[in-house]
Amino acid sequence: MRLTVLGASTPYPRPDAPCSGYLVQHGRTSVWVDAGTGTLAELQRHVSLDSLDAIWISHAHADHSADLLTAYYALRFSELAPAGPVPLIVPPNLVDRLVTFLGPGAVKTLPKVFDITQMGGFGELVIGDLALEWGPVDHGMPAYALRITGGGASVAYSGDTAPCGSLVELAAGATLLLCEAGYDVAPPSNGVVHCTPEDAARIATTAGAHRLLLTHVDAGIADAAGRAAKSFAGSVGIAIPGQVISLA
Ligand SMILES: [Zn+2]
Ligand SMILES: [Zn+2]
Repeated sequence: MRLTVLGASTPYPRPDAPCSGYLVQHGRTSVWVDAGTGTLAELQRHVSLDSLDAIWISHAHADHSADLLTAYYALRFSELAPAGPVPLIVPPNLVDRLVTFLGPGAVKTLPKVFDITQMGGFGELVIGDLALEWGPVDHGMPAYALRITGGGASVAYSGDTAPCGSLVELAAGATLLLCEAGYDVAPPSNGVVHCTPEDAARIATTAGAHRLLLTHVDAGIADAAGRAAKSFAGSVGIAIPGQVISLA
């Protein structure tokens, strides 16, 4: 299995640093995980949009989903020739948002472009050579974490979330946990919606993940990997756009 980081910036893209997006591939199967701003362009360095096997979106925040809008244009109006609607797995509030932006006609045209599965609670789906499992996480809106398994390896992805049990569950024994660290310091009261580097490390430890890759790291954090390494015994890295990680 191969994980390619398309982007990891939050909450907006910088030059050569798109927002959250990843490409997971195994065998002949390619899945685009989160379509953050700027990731559609990066995706095409590795795979053509019309040969994707599925797209999976963690939640409706624009830094994880905005490039779906131009992906729709590409699949509907360009020289690309998809064999059929591209499977798209989304949280329950995203379709209405896409239609609102694309216009009322999209109610009829979206299903021609995307074969849409709306998530609700825990779920799973086999896409070619990859098995996807997801579950709801704590982000103040419908949001999901993901586990993808293929070729004996597994990647767990937090999406955006506060520390929560379903992320630990999905990350159990994972080859790699790709975990957000959107907070330098968590707010002292209610409304926690992200992890700190220490949170990510504790989740990796509790879940028994083998490696930790921090992503969506708050720009104010100076040494996220060093902070996480104090609470996790395995290897810790920071997601960098263009990075390709082979997992077995
Ligand atoms: Zn978010
Ligand atoms: Zn985010």
